[in-house]
This record gives sequence, C-alpha cells and structure tokens, in this order.
Amino acid sequence: MRISPHQIPHEGREVDLTMDEKWAREGVGQGVGGKTLSLNGQLFLRAYEAQIRVTGTVDSEVELVCDRCAKDLRWSQDGELDLSYLPIGSRDDGSRALASDELDIGFYPLEGLDLGRVLQEFFALEVPGRLSCDAPNAVPLEGESCSPLGTVQEPTKRADPRFAALAGLKLSGEG
Ligand SMILES: [Zn+2]
Repeated sequence: MRISPHQIPHEGREVDLTMDEKWAREGVGQGVGGKTLSLNGQLFLRAYEAQIRVTGTVDSEVELVCDRCAKDLRWSQDGELDLSYLPIGSRDDGSRALASDELDIGFYPLEGLDLGRVLQEFFALEVPGRLSCDAPNAVPLEGESCSPLGTVQEPTKRADPRFAALAGLKLSGEG
C-alpha cells in the first residue's frame, strides 16, 4: 500500500492492520523472516508538508524456524511505531550531520511511501539476529524448546581413542 502526503487529510489518516491486508501481512512476514500467523493493529499517518510520520501499534505472531534446532516456532511481537519519512532527494545527503532526532528518518520514493515496507523495516529492527525456541517471545510449535545445553552431545560409551589404539596393538600382537 503506497501513500503520498496529498492522500493524508489534515486530521491524519488511520490504516487498519489485519490479516486481510496482504501488503501488511507480507510486510510483517518479510521483516521477521517467516510466515505471518496473526496480525492486529493500526497505523496513524500524518503529513507535514512532504514529511510523513507513521505512528501506531502492531501486534503479530509469525511462524519461523529456530536458528538452533531448525524446528518451527511461533514468535510474537507487539510494539509501537514512530517513524518519519521524507521524499528521496529532499535534502543534501552528507552535507550536514544528522541531529539525533533525525536518525529515525527514512526516505520514500516519488511513487509514495510503501506502508508494507514500513512494517518490514520496523520488524526487521525488532527481531534479534538469531532467534531460537527459548527466546523471550518464542514458543515452539511442537515439543520442548531446545536449550543451549541441548546442542552439547551426550557423552558416549565409545572408548577413548588412545585406548582403541592400545586395543589395536594388542590385537595385532595376538594375531
Ligand atoms: Zn530450537
């Protein structure tokens, strides 16, 4: 869903986020890196001349794969957005340092601001780089979550290689 400042009335514009909105569903899924299972929320858009400010709340669940055990898990996230966008080329890049309150400013192309992309960027920032079953917002879809200790192999009964070598010597001695 693309939107331009002239499509936003003075009092602002509300956009519902539901599973029925394909662009929203896909934006969340792409940001998290999985398949969106549920989505609820609302964006509120305001235009200040060419600048578009997106605020709102979003609550979603995404199915994805554990980075550690590769099993499916359900990851839930709710959050509040507050992002601002300016048209590309609206300022001279690099001509001055960005003030701290401008760090959250993104840019949108001539065709307008893609709200699916806004969601994608928001979730990409919210999701940890590695996500496993035991992450705070994660629930394994089946069975127990893997634990860091789970990747350590159980000690096996296999003999120490040094003893195996001795056994081999003994065998060859006997043979
Ligand atoms: Zn896991």
